Amino acid sequence: MAKQQPNLMDNIVSLCKRKGFVFQASEIYGGIGNTYDYGPLGVELLRRVKDAWWGRVVTERSDVVGLDSAIIQHPDVWVTSGHVGGFSDPMVDCKKCKARFRADKIEDASCPEKPSKRPGECAGELTEPREFNLMFKTNVGPVEGSGSVAYLRPETAQGIFLNFKNVLDSARIKPPFGIAQIGKSFRNEITPGNFVFRTREFEQAEMEFFVPPGEDQKWFEFWVRERFQWYTDYGINPDALRLRVHDKKELAHYAKATTDVEYLYPFGWGELEGIANRGDFDLSRHSEASGTKLVYFDQETKEKYTPWVIEPAGGINRMALTFLIDAYEEEQLEKDTRVVLHFHPRIAPTTVAIFPLVKKEGMPEKAHEIEAELRRARLSVQYDEKGAIGRRYRRQDEVGTPFCVTVDGQTLADDVVTVRERDSMEQVTLAVGELVPWILEAMGHWKRPERSPKSKD
Ligand code: ATP
Repeated sequence: MAKQQPNLMDNIVSLCKRKGFVFQASEIYGGIGNTYDYGPLGVELLRRVKDAWWGRVVTERSDVVGLDSAIIQHPDVWVTSGHVGGFSDPMVDCKKCKARFRADKIEDASCPEKPSKRPGECAGELTEPREFNLMFKTNVGPVEGSGSVAYLRPETAQGIFLNFKNVLDSARIKPPFGIAQIGKSFRNEITPGNFVFRTREFEQAEMEFFVPPGEDQKWFEFWVRERFQWYTDYGINPDALRLRVHDKKELAHYAKATTDVEYLYPFGWGELEGIANRGDFDLSRHSEASGTKLVYFDQETKEKYTPWVIEPAGGINRMALTFLIDAYEEEQLEKDTRVVLHFHPRIAPTTVAIFPLVKKEGMPEKAHEIEAELRRARLSVQYDEKGAIGRRYRRQDEVGTPFCVTVDGQTLADDVVTVRERDSMEQVTLAVGELVPWILEAMGHWKRPERSPKSKD
């Protein structure tokens, strides 16, 4: 099992703020509970995670297409989907301090007034549990009233089911095929926490894979394997990942089977992504409620059927947090310790840093010239001319930049640069003309490095 470092979470939260990955939202007004903004490096990290997901789930496949559906849909959608009636957690309120807690998570909660005590074990008395709906309500149109109530979507999946027929009629595809979507979802979570692990506003990456009935088990197993593999391909430690099969009692109302990909966070095992066999629940319910038949007619066999659905559903923010935690190392070197993020080069927010050795003799100009060339190749670049080279390497290690390029006297004389690799700290000398292809090649061949014994498994 992966070994946990003490204070790991605190160190990551502080690095995220210091380096511009994640900020508390509305900070200058005192913040708003469990809502975060992503800074310059954070937004690049999210973008890489989305690109890696989209690339694997959509671009590399001939049987999956994309969609971008609206956040606010017809309110009846959420009645049909079961969210208005059933999307709730059992909650208890503290009669003294009025705080609200999830009844099934009391063990993990603490009293806001006496943080060393659990709710109910302080002086406060808890109410009986009651259901609390997690959807955010809003009003559409100029008049507020029951007729104008709408909801912010709590998942992106329903937008996909609503467009099943549109996509089928327009995209010339047939089952088995998938529709993928990345977008914001909103849940009025009562026990948010653990930094960006659980927030009220988050981005989901979901794909609904429509299959002929009878092929569901095969595809369910395929997508469980495939999604697990994606995480390890992008460098997540396989020993800190596991699959957890939901037992019958735990299954959501729509699910025939669910398996979660879980990660060992500093606060314990937690869901990273869920893969569900949703059967024909959603298409059947929406057909019935809307009067539009969401079925597939096979021209060859003349067969008409409602496809079954396999759904891998993950959170982009939770994935980004997982990449951060998993990449983080306080590596013991001979003389000191360095903080390094061993991101996969395709996940790292900055791909290349470029340094002139000194701020004179034409080196900054030459470095800017190379910087422009790297940017034209659509690599994400940071230019840094401040401080000793060793300090500059450490600054890039801390934000996970895999390659640092130094421009020195030899560059001016012979057009060669030194490239230093983040994980091994080894250096090679390259002709400037070879730089872009060399970096692209090295990105493709990256392997998760062995960690120093201190943080190794
Ligand atoms: P949990 O049990 O953690 O509440 P869930 O089972 O309700 O999650 P799903 O509805 O299956 O989650 O959502 C799919 C994915 O969306 C989750 O695996 C997670 O990565 C992400 N996700 C869900 N809720 C949140 C949230 N409040 N904040 C951040 N990500 C979330």
